[in-house]
Amino acid sequence: MQGPSWISDENSWPTWTPQVKQETLLLTTTDDNEKMNPCVLNGISKIIDISRFSSLKKLLRVTCYVFKFVNLCKSKRPYNLRKYARHGKYITKDEIDRATRTWITDIQNGKFSSEKEQLVNPSKDKNLPLVRQLRLFIDTEGVIRCAGRIHNSQLDDSAKFPVLLPKKNQFTDLIILNAHLQMLHSGAGQTITQIRQSYWIPSIRQCVNHIVQKCVKCRKVTGKAFPQQISPPLPKDRVTIRFRLRQLVLISLDHYSLKIMDLLQNRIFAYSHVLVFVPYT
Ligand SMILES: [Zn+2]
Repeated sequence: MQGPSWISDENSWPTWTPQVKQETLLLTTTDDNEKMNPCVLNGISKIIDISRFSSLKKLLRVTCYVFKFVNLCKSKRPYNLRKYARHGKYITKDEIDRATRTWITDIQNGKFSSEKEQLVNPSKDKNLPLVRQLRLFIDTEGVIRCAGRIHNSQLDDSAKFPVLLPKKNQFTDLIILNAHLQMLHSGAGQTITQIRQSYWIPSIRQCVNHIVQKCVKCRKVTGKAFPQQISPPLPKDRVTIRFRLRQLVLISLDHYSLKIMDLLQNRIFAYSHVLVFVPYT
């Protein structure tokens, strides 16, 4: 094989120098024990398009990988690719919880901005009904929760103070679908019970019914059987006398007979005849 003339002479090869600005180089770390500050991204919905996800787990895992990337970019030490490939690809529960809180905070900032403003700056003039009825408050992580009236019960704190989520929201739909899958495709009642262990969604039964009705596996089990279709009337040629006469002109005729023997007396004591008419339709 022969290539172009300049390919055998390395000195004549073209050169390329990447134009990379010094301040755009990523500074990363080799120390796995270094404690990175938790990544906080305001407006995660502007970075990740939630409408492209149909699974809550996948959404949270992708969010965790985005956090990892941002943390690596913000780190100030050189970065060892081999160590990251060994340890950095795993996602811990704390990272999943952090991603969940980020999404909840982002959605609450968008849907309950006025409620959050009232909670941050309470005033006597402004008293929103949702804040008053659900006794909303902001926890230490900036998440709006409902106080309710079951403080003294023995439930978990997440059930006593559930997180407020809006209805008709993509993230809320993913939460409902995830609870429905956790309950192994149970009905709306069990799904609502599972969701209320952690979340409070206004008009929750309507939202859950909307999701459960769209579940393909549930539709296969609970859906009605395909009804028997009503047969249309026979065509005219098949029900008129003219058709019968015409068809009987062309038939196949076959005949065969059987002899039934009496083995004791060795004689024929009966005959059986079969005559077959096959009209051509
Ligand atoms: Zn289902």
